[in-house]
Amino acid sequence: MELNNGQKDNMNRSAETQSLESRHLIPTYKRIPVILERGEGAFVYDVEGKEYLDLISGIGVVSLGHAHPGLTKAIKEQTQTLLHCSNLFYHPLQGKLAEKLAIFSGLPRAFFCNSGTEAIEACLKFARRYWHSQDPSRTGFVALEHSFHGRTMGSLSVTWEEHYRTPFAPLIPDVSWVSPNDPEALQNAVTETTAGIVLEPIQGEGGVRPLTANFAAAVQEACKKTGALLITDEVQSGLGRTGQPFYFSKLGLDPQLVALGKALGGGIPIGATLASEEVAQAVEFGDHGTTYGGNLLACRAALFFLEELMEHGLLSQIEQQGAYLARRLNTLANKHTSIIEVRGSGLIWGIELRNDATPVVEGALRHGMLINRTDGTVVRLLPPLTITEAEIDQGLEILDMVLTELDTGVSA
Ligand SMILES: *Cc1c(COP(=O)(O)O)cnc(C)c1O
Repeated sequence: MELNNGQKDNMNRSAETQSLESRHLIPTYKRIPVILERGEGAFVYDVEGKEYLDLISGIGVVSLGHAHPGLTKAIKEQTQTLLHCSNLFYHPLQGKLAEKLAIFSGLPRAFFCNSGTEAIEACLKFARRYWHSQDPSRTGFVALEHSFHGRTMGSLSVTWEEHYRTPFAPLIPDVSWVSPNDPEALQNAVTETTAGIVLEPIQGEGGVRPLTANFAAAVQEACKKTGALLITDEVQSGLGRTGQPFYFSKLGLDPQLVALGKALGGGIPIGATLASEEVAQAVEFGDHGTTYGGNLLACRAALFFLEELMEHGLLSQIEQQGAYLARRLNTLANKHTSIIEVRGSGLIWGIELRNDATPVVEGALRHGMLINRTDGTVVRLLPPLTITEAEIDQGLEILDMVLTELDTGVSA
């Protein structure tokens, strides 16, 4: 097939992009060879103009879909007003955002940062700070096998996968690991020297695995018995993603610290640590801080997102679309023996396969759909929270087609 000049230009741009990165980026990412440059709603477009249905939404970040007109307008207005003033001064938006999060979560206090891992760092530091005044011997953390809490040194210390941690040892000491299937082990691991228990109510990177009610009850009991603080990492599962405001409440958990990120800014980087009054009172001026954290641009984006979620019906829409997606996924699982199980809630789902999920991800890409693999054999779906029934249909048809091709050994 002859390429026209436009196609040749695009190929040159792709080659140039890849070659520049290969020469000048520190090679932390093994990228899929697609160069995305534009998006609209649940769709993104690569430099060659190919359309993709985006069911991963920048790993759960692009919560309102791409180029959302309202979010775009809010961000644009803010860029023309004031972007940043540092935390040396007050500005009108941090308090408003903290108030909304307090109403939404039941935790009255917030600290703003720029990412999920920073939100976890602040949780760990605030837990340590709390015990520093009360009982400085309480420095330990209990974390779960298959957890993921981020890549900075503190978060990494409570992240399970050896291959993430080992090259960076030594990390923070006194972390004990417990299997999320073992309530008794949890009870034994949490002692009078435990500062906090860190957990994801749904383990995201670990393969989309919701904790059981049984395990959650053991966590609450251990906290009650020992006074250990409960830190829930809702960076991926929080803010409506599961059809609930936060999955901790669904599990009956009562955390003193909650980490947020991903969906909060709809694509503008922002993280937040929410805290109980008691923990917040232990923190003094100068104990923690960040230059960018909670700047006007990030707060404006987060305020817009929370208004959509809480005041303009998005949360109930997620519940509805989530129930529809669950039905369609269960039908898919019944049809394909290559699927072992589908797990999730709302608009976070894992499809566990008998084999490595890579061919499914690659097949979907060829058919114009973005999904990703986690924990080896799990296909993860994290669509924009604004996804429609028709878009879900389209996505499930592609998945069905890809699985059929793989079952029969035919590939398009
Ligand atoms: C993504 C994620 C993080 C880390 O967030 P970053 O913004 O990448 O630092 C932490 N915890 C969970 C549960 C996550 O899914």
